[in-house]
Amino acid sequence: MNANELPSYLTPAPDSAWGDFVEQVDRVTPYLGEFTYLASTLKRPQRILIVDVPIRLDNGDLAHFEGYRIQHNTFRGPGKGGIRFHQDVTLSEVMALAGWMTIKNAAVGVPYGGSKGGVRVDPATLSEAELERLTRRYTSEIGILIGPDRDIPAPDVNTDERIMAWMMDTYSMNIGHSATGVVTGKPISIGGSLGRRAATGRGVYIVTAAAVEKLKLDMKKLRVIIQGMGNVGHSAARFFHEAGARVIAVQDVTGSVFNGDGIDVPRMNSTLRLGQTLRDCPGVEPIPNDQFWSLDCDIVVPAALERQITEDIARRIKARMVVEGANGPTTPAADDILRQRGILVLPDVLANAGGVTVSYFEWVQDFSSFFWTEAEINARLDRIMRDAFEAIWELSVGRKLPLRTAAFILACTRILQARHMRGLYP
Ligand code: NAD
Repeated sequence: MNANELPSYLTPAPDSAWGDFVEQVDRVTPYLGEFTYLASTLKRPQRILIVDVPIRLDNGDLAHFEGYRIQHNTFRGPGKGGIRFHQDVTLSEVMALAGWMTIKNAAVGVPYGGSKGGVRVDPATLSEAELERLTRRYTSEIGILIGPDRDIPAPDVNTDERIMAWMMDTYSMNIGHSATGVVTGKPISIGGSLGRRAATGRGVYIVTAAAVEKLKLDMKKLRVIIQGMGNVGHSAARFFHEAGARVIAVQDVTGSVFNGDGIDVPRMNSTLRLGQTLRDCPGVEPIPNDQFWSLDCDIVVPAALERQITEDIARRIKARMVVEGANGPTTPAADDILRQRGILVLPDVLANAGGVTVSYFEWVQDFSSFFWTEAEINARLDRIMRDAFEAIWELSVGRKLPLRTAAFILACTRILQARHMRGLYP
């Protein structure tokens, strides 16, 4: 193996999220000018930690789970990125998610590198006590990498404020004092930020509204379909509904439902909060999952997992716009098909950056122990999202490039410029 050859775990497997990320980096490389020579660093995560997470189950048995924390890049600041608990988490998936965090943080200009973590576990199979033991042991194991000025986790799929509280407590116990800034997305009572819970969905809405303005459309006449009704999907649905758009279909892991006149989103969200499923929501009709993607609509918001919009689905989507609430929901080949069909894609690294932006606010507030009002937070979020949208839109129109390529050009230039200025150690 020569010095520049990729080790096997970095060689993208076909149909993998890491493969998609590497292809996106390859696609932007010709546009990086004087920094082109540094682009290959983006295809090599800086640090990869794989941990064994043993826990005692409630029945006394011992169970082992595999966990990861990856710092993809820290040229622009500490690592930042969520923690996913899911049965399909793999090293390759976490590498891709960490890479997208590097790009996203640079695209919106928050002073972070990119990280991600995860444990391969279906949390629905664990009791609350088992989940707490898993979270605490995992946090201790990755304790050698994380820290308020080193690498700051946050919620992702199947992790929430309660899990962030256990992580913050575990890290604090291990170092002997309360370190509120070690995670974001915490409960307000222990240093969380107002506005964080809805921030990703709010950001999805802000950039969609900006694109709707550019296209001279009327939000009140638009029909939206959303895949994923978790943190991102349910709050995005609320903002679209409040703005007068009609959310006509949603899909989650339990199935898909439809109401052509518009789903009553507040009632749907309160039904889901009670632990019921989409089918229990008032005024909706179940539809086959396959039909969901072919629905006649204006805006499609994937807000579940990566690689959901494949080539086949891209050919069937009947919308003007795809707004990526999830990370990596569209494969590069599907991206090309959407483009050929004239469907605008608002890329993940812009569209779902509202969460990390308010996480940044939370971290700043924790450091200064001075907390802002929700109105201040939302106004600052609005400004950052709109400024990032404008810069990416202008570059895209000016150079006739897709928004994703424009976002990657801006972000990669910032990241590699930082690398260039810092120089190569030693
Ligand atoms: P979540 O766990 O709160 O919700 C996930 C949702 O996706 C659930 O409704 C689940 O039923 C649905 N889902 C899972 N698998 C599915 C499948 N196969 N088909 C249809 N639906 C499925 O997760 P979240 O925090 O809302 O994250 C969703 C996406 O947004 C992820 O890609 C995540 O990386 C990304 N994201 C999250 C945040 C955040 O602040 N939470 C920020 C940026 C990006």
